[in-house]
Amino acid sequence: MQLQNTCTVGAIAMLCSRVSLSGMQAAKRLTILLVIWAASLSAQSARKPASQPDVFLVTIDTLRADHVHCYGYGPIQTPALDTLAKDGVRFTQAFTPSPITNTSHTSILTGLLPSTHGVTDFAVRLANTYPSWAELLKKQGYRTGAFIGSVVLDSQSFAPGLDRGFDFYDNFPKVTHSKSRWGRLERRGRDVAQHAENWLSTHPTGPHFVWVHFYDPHDPYDPPPPFSQVYKDRLYDGEIAYADSALADFLAYLKKKGWYENSVVIVVGDHGEGLGEHHEETHGIFLYDSTMHVPLIIKFRDQREAGRVVEAQVRTTDILPTVIDLLKIPLPERLDGESLVSYLALVGTPETTGRAAFGETDYPMRFGWAPIRSVRGEGFKFIEAPRPEFYNLRSDPRELTNNYVPWDAIVQKFRAMLSDLRSKMPPRSPSAGSVSQSTIDELKALGYLGRADAGSSTNVPEASLLPDPKEKIEEQNLLHKAMIASEDGRSSEARTALEKVLELDPKAPTALRQIGELELHAGDYAKAAEHLKHAREIRPDDATAAFYEGQALQGEGDLAGAREALEASLKLTPAQFPARLLLGQVYLGLKNLKAAEDQFEAALLMQPQNLEAQLWLARAQIASENFVEALRQLKPLSKSQPNNAEVFELLAQGYSGLGKREEAERAESRARRLRKNQQP
Ligand SMILES: [Zn+2]
Repeated sequence: MQLQNTCTVGAIAMLCSRVSLSGMQAAKRLTILLVIWAASLSAQSARKPASQPDVFLVTIDTLRADHVHCYGYGPIQTPALDTLAKDGVRFTQAFTPSPITNTSHTSILTGLLPSTHGVTDFAVRLANTYPSWAELLKKQGYRTGAFIGSVVLDSQSFAPGLDRGFDFYDNFPKVTHSKSRWGRLERRGRDVAQHAENWLSTHPTGPHFVWVHFYDPHDPYDPPPPFSQVYKDRLYDGEIAYADSALADFLAYLKKKGWYENSVVIVVGDHGEGLGEHHEETHGIFLYDSTMHVPLIIKFRDQREAGRVVEAQVRTTDILPTVIDLLKIPLPERLDGESLVSYLALVGTPETTGRAAFGETDYPMRFGWAPIRSVRGEGFKFIEAPRPEFYNLRSDPRELTNNYVPWDAIVQKFRAMLSDLRSKMPPRSPSAGSVSQSTIDELKALGYLGRADAGSSTNVPEASLLPDPKEKIEEQNLLHKAMIASEDGRSSEARTALEKVLELDPKAPTALRQIGELELHAGDYAKAAEHLKHAREIRPDDATAAFYEGQALQGEGDLAGAREALEASLKLTPAQFPARLLLGQVYLGLKNLKAAEDQFEAALLMQPQNLEAQLWLARAQIASENFVEALRQLKPLSKSQPNNAEVFELLAQGYSGLGKREEAERAESRARRLRKNQQP
């Protein structure tokens, strides 16, 4: 299996990327090649940019192939997907290389495996090394727009660089005061479709490349009516049925505009959902088919090949190479996938051989567990983990009987493929950059652990020495439950789940930190400090636990303890604004005025306009009788914050420190007036 493709003509790529062809096969390929080459020449001479088809990519999050009606699941209605399959080609065996949203989407949008594009974690920037789908099409004169359903694909926070090549990328608002998930963390599918339709209506001149992302089937499962009623005992299915209705909405719009016929429409799942199989409730930890097998439907221009069903194993990394092939545009330097056109009858007898599908997940490392790799092909799956697994998918499609023995020939072949793959991967960049606390909080609200939560994943021990996630999956389910419950304000439920984790493993650092955080927010500082201290003993490089411990100790009045914890946290991750601000206050309480000023100044370097930090710096300056500097700090604030009583109170203190009684009294009375107005 070839991973590095150096062909430069799109149509030839799929042919030159195969090895060990028999003589007959080679002759057939040559014929096909000539047909494509001739077709491409005539197409290129006849084509004007406007005749290029629109390309619409719809990704449906967390969509298991076996929960879609046209994939044989009776108890659900998915009429839009079913109709699209009738108009297009349905791939019954399509696999994602990653069970995590932003990693798998990056693979779809680049045609690259996660280890190649490097986005194997939240908030890792997509490097410029390889062009993305939107960039390639924009270069061909396409108008490009992206419409996302979850903040996890927001290019300002979790998915930096994913907006490259898009004329418009529908990010979430930077600041929202809403507590609701809707509009802050997620958008309903119909809203996403509406955003895309509005944009298309105001930018009608094509060709378009539009990516629409429906996040609905992702947990927590909360479909709107009537789906919440119809599927009340199967809310996951209800979310899928609702996402299908959003797809119906979007396809109806394309038909109304007369754009459907001439367009290429692709619908694909980014990954599946565990639903309790292998004890995995959601996704991200394992590489079983429950989370890796996704639906893939491609409707071609003029409904060519309508109704075809392809049963060969293919990958979501093959989608972009297919589009490149169809549009006859130059191949980028590297693609890990290959065009799917060879599976169609467009160019002769369709190919039937499946392609090896690699799987990767580093998400277990967040919890301190080993990462997992897999190879699926020839009816078998090999899973590389501390306790390796090997399944015969023909006799055991649910992957229930582990037949791993190291001397099995296919095990050895697949293991060699993984090691070959590793040797071809670009070196990993050691740091993903630091993630802000608000980003980590949002991630947690979505049920995921942020990088800073689990400490640095770059200095973990050798992967094979880490626990096998199979032994830890119950903990992960409980941690996930606790994160979602605490986001919804159900703190006693969250506490119960976390206590259960600690029963399973009293030293589980993530649970200790989360329960500490829960007590901190509940105002039980002593309990919080105790849990957080314990968490830090187990994982001394956890900057977040140290920050929370500092908060708890400050709440308790233990300023010396708070200083130690906050300094430890900042030593691990220096650019933490809230920790700097708090440490400044702790120093102020300890009467170390110079150190307090240093911290507030450091905070202001990060956020120069932050009012709270400016006021704290003025307080520290007044406390150290540096009235001139304090006034220099406060005077501009009296203009920009004319209704802030605090500003005028501090001004009064500054003036009176300098003996300017008249100005001090004026500021004082202004502060009094403002305070009075503020009273209810
Ligand atoms: Zn996802």
